[in-house]
Amino acid sequence: MRAEILCVGTELLLGDIVNTNAAYIAKELAAIGVNVYHQAVVGDNAQRLREQLERSFSQCDLVVLTGGLGPTYDDLTKETVAELFGREMEFNQEAYDGILRRFLHSDRQMTENNRKQAYLPVGAVPLQNQNGTAPGLILEDEREHRTAVLLPGPPREMEPMFSNQVVPYLKEKTHSTLVSHSIHIFGLGESYVESCLHDFMEESRNPTLAPYAKEGEVLLRVTASAGSREEADRMMEPVIERVKELFGDNVYGVDIGSLQAALVAELQKKGLKAATAESCTGGLVSKRITEVAGASQVFDCGICSYANQIKERVLGVSHETLEALGAVSRETAAQMAAGVRKLAQADIGVSTTGIAGPDGGTDEKPVGLVYVGVDSENYSTVLECRLSRGYRDERELIRYLASSHALRLALTAARKA
Ligand code: ATP
Ligand code: MG
Repeated sequence: MRAEILCVGTELLLGDIVNTNAAYIAKELAAIGVNVYHQAVVGDNAQRLREQLERSFSQCDLVVLTGGLGPTYDDLTKETVAELFGREMEFNQEAYDGILRRFLHSDRQMTENNRKQAYLPVGAVPLQNQNGTAPGLILEDEREHRTAVLLPGPPREMEPMFSNQVVPYLKEKTHSTLVSHSIHIFGLGESYVESCLHDFMEESRNPTLAPYAKEGEVLLRVTASAGSREEADRMMEPVIERVKELFGDNVYGVDIGSLQAALVAELQKKGLKAATAESCTGGLVSKRITEVAGASQVFDCGICSYANQIKERVLGVSHETLEALGAVSRETAAQMAAGVRKLAQADIGVSTTGIAGPDGGTDEKPVGLVYVGVDSENYSTVLECRLSRGYRDERELIRYLASSHALRLALTAARKA
């Protein structure tokens, strides 16, 4: 199948918004083995959209469109595609029921415009919108071997619709079972990971291996296409093993979702409890832990201790340490972790203290210097992190990366327990 991605919206042409939809769809299609040959952007203009569609279908048999599905006058995508395929618009009960359900549990009133959204080209398969009112649709023209997939513009509506409804549809069309696994890596850069795997990624078509970088982590997605799920898993097993061998402890899990999910799962498995003492991360570590459902069984307490008196009085950090070495120091981090562990009578105490910036840095203790500590029976250590990358406005990034290091240390402690 040859595919093209066509995004509709004058805001995209003007540069007012970034075309994240095209990037998302391109990656998702690549992951299921559908080749994307072109990407295009057109404004909200029926004639130019029609011309582009004709070009697209002269080169490809699948065109995935986003945008212009809303109920307003400038939303023209559905009508234009219907016209090209020679289909009338008709009321679609399934689409209408989906729209109705959206209003059932909200205090908003359904309007005539919303009802209009239930009109789809004759023969279209409606795609339910879980996060908005505009239904998407798939329109096939068997005789001409062309398929159009129409998706709403807002990413939070488009992305789940694509992965939950379009991907299964395309998989069935390509007659193979595609299975993916995600390998989560922390503490290594994307370019390093990529360079270690470069040859493999070049050579291998099935299974494929694709890296995605996000905020200090690398996610490797392994995908295999086979006759059955079991066969696909068998094909992927040696690849996953090879990645684990290459990156060792930096691999924190497979299909686990996030560092905090890996930590909570490990704590639950071992029946352990953790507590946090945070300075520069202001509660981010405990926020991330408690994002995971079931965290209350394994998380005792989080102390957000900014003032030195609190570090002393609540956590038992020694006055002399704070005087002589300062709050941002290896010793303070160690004592904070030990202190909160004792206070909460937890198995693992974890701490952060550092300089998130933009002010407050010195030559000796620059912005981005963060000490992350962990205290437990078998494993107690302090990590010195230099998290500044020299970007503008990196305070949030420094805090996030510091919280990731803390979660990672706690995970190591839990594994050694
Ligand atoms: P709506 O019902 O919200 O009007 P729609 O399907 O008509 O949805 P558009 O009107 O084209 O979609 O776009 C709505 C919003 O969705 C845009 O203002 C923009 O914020 C976002 N959006 C649209 N296309 C893209 C894209 N390609 N990449 C990222 N965001 C997009
Ligand atoms: Mg719109």
